[in-house]
Amino acid sequence: MAGSFRIAGGMEAIVDALAATLPADRLHLSARVESISRTGGVVLARGVSCQADHVVLAVPPRIAAGLTYDPRLDLDMRTALTAIPTWMAGQAKFVATYDRPFWRDLHLSGDAMSHCGPLMEIHDASGPDGTPAALFGFLGTPAPHRAGRAGEIEQAALDQLARLFGPAARTPIRTALQDWAFQPETATEDDLTPPSTHPDYGLPPRLSGLWEGRLHFAATEVAPEMGGYLEGALAAAEAVSARLQAAIPTL
Ligand SMILES: Cc1cc2nc3c(=O)[nH]c(=O)nc-3n(C[C@H](O)[C@H](O)[C@H](O)COP(=O)(O)OP(=O)(O)OC[C@H]3O[C@@H](n4cnc5c(N)ncnc54)[C@H](O)[C@@H]3O)c2cc1C
Repeated sequence: MAGSFRIAGGMEAIVDALAATLPADRLHLSARVESISRTGGVVLARGVSCQADHVVLAVPPRIAAGLTYDPRLDLDMRTALTAIPTWMAGQAKFVATYDRPFWRDLHLSGDAMSHCGPLMEIHDASGPDGTPAALFGFLGTPAPHRAGRAGEIEQAALDQLARLFGPAARTPIRTALQDWAFQPETATEDDLTPPSTHPDYGLPPRLSGLWEGRLHFAATEVAPEMGGYLEGALAAAEAVSARLQAAIPTL
């Protein structure tokens, strides 16, 4: 995949590095935001609450639409949020890890496009120098047909990897099937049917300047360029950061 980059340590390395710069008492990990009020009150799951001058929602718009707002968001604002699909929200990945990247011995890259088996696009997902050794594939089976079939899919995926890369693929150390379509923090029912083309993204004017400019949307879907990708998430965050710095000169 020329021109593509991967991050050593995986995506969580970025999150951990960002979190390490924040005061520990400001972090509420694994705490779902449930409601937000115009006066700055934010209520998290299990009843914990915080107070904020500005609220920045860096969650997919359809997920944001499902939060409770006090006062309620107008119908046209909620409609604007639910109209924005999250690119790839309905996708799933299967990963198999091995004691060594055996396919490289056969001069195989680990990359494949396949229509025979559940995985449609497969890549070598090994770490630097092949450690840990891993192959991953995007599932081609539509989300509605994946529900409740994890065991069957995993077995068929290993059979497929063995056909492509040799019998050693059948004996991984570990496998994982991650299905974002059924993660309530990423996808809604509307995302079970993925968009056929990459959506046009950007912050709809209706969602700009809410609550006297103190409620912000900062997920990748509001980025005017590279929306739906990691790059868009960075651009959206930088745009909100600039707005906050203008509003709060001491920031
Ligand atoms: C299978 C797959 C493969 C992808 N591959 C690529 C790729 O190769 N390159 C690329 O550039 N992009 C890729 N993407 C897209 C990329 O992951 C997203 O663009 C990016 O993660 C968006 O970042 P974000 O910060 O806007 O939102 P997210 O990464 O979705 O982060 C939102 C966070 O908010 C949390 N959250 C949700 N609801 C709540 C709540 N109520 N309270 C508290 N927290 C909440 C979620 O748990 C999540 O941690 C892929 C996506 C998927 C699903």
